[in-house]
Amino acid sequence: MTVIVYIALGSNLDDPAIHVRRACQELGALPQTCCLQYSCLYQSTPHGSSDQPDYINAVAELETELPPNELLSMLQALEQSHGRVRTGEHWGPRPLDLDILLYGDQQIDGPDLQIPHPYMAERAFVLYPLAELVSDLNIPGFGLLSELLQSCPAEGLEPLNDLRN
Ligand code: ATP
Ligand code: CA
Ligand code: CA
Repeated sequence: MTVIVYIALGSNLDDPAIHVRRACQELGALPQTCCLQYSCLYQSTPHGSSDQPDYINAVAELETELPPNELLSMLQALEQSHGRVRTGEHWGPRPLDLDILLYGDQQIDGPDLQIPHPYMAERAFVLYPLAELVSDLNIPGFGLLSELLQSCPAEGLEPLNDLRN
């Protein structure tokens, strides 16, 4: 069974745009997975500690047969291959962060995996790139993407170049 999933990519260390572009290619090369489309790259001001560089963000749409927990493990392996070291600091700087936003229309509430991603509805750097890829979408437990966008100003978010070029 194939499922459409959306992955948020973020980086704010060591030439972030290169990490995000490379990770997009790598997502499409995961087993039992193909990448359908990517958003543009966006630059965003950090949340959490503001004493860190701006982020580069994007969202990718994948089609996969991987179950959610296997997908999460593979994303974490990719983060590590980009040199991410888990320091325990939440929202600290990192060369690559890959979050599963949506896995079909499933809702998952486990200790290691929550889908939809619990903070996606309040994050401009997630909602705006996602909106590039879909005309509208019901986000289980949160409502329509178009309505979430209306209450989430794009402050601190700047679209950059197109990942597809
Ligand atoms: P945030 O979740 O607020 O974006 P973060 O991405 O900085 O914070 P991490 O340190 O990358 O947080 O991840 C912490 C844990 O979140 C991971 O170990 C993972 O088990 C868990 N997690 C829960 N739901 C998800 C999800 N939908 N996608 C990725 N990781 C998730
Ligand atoms: Ca994150
Ligand atoms: Ca994460």
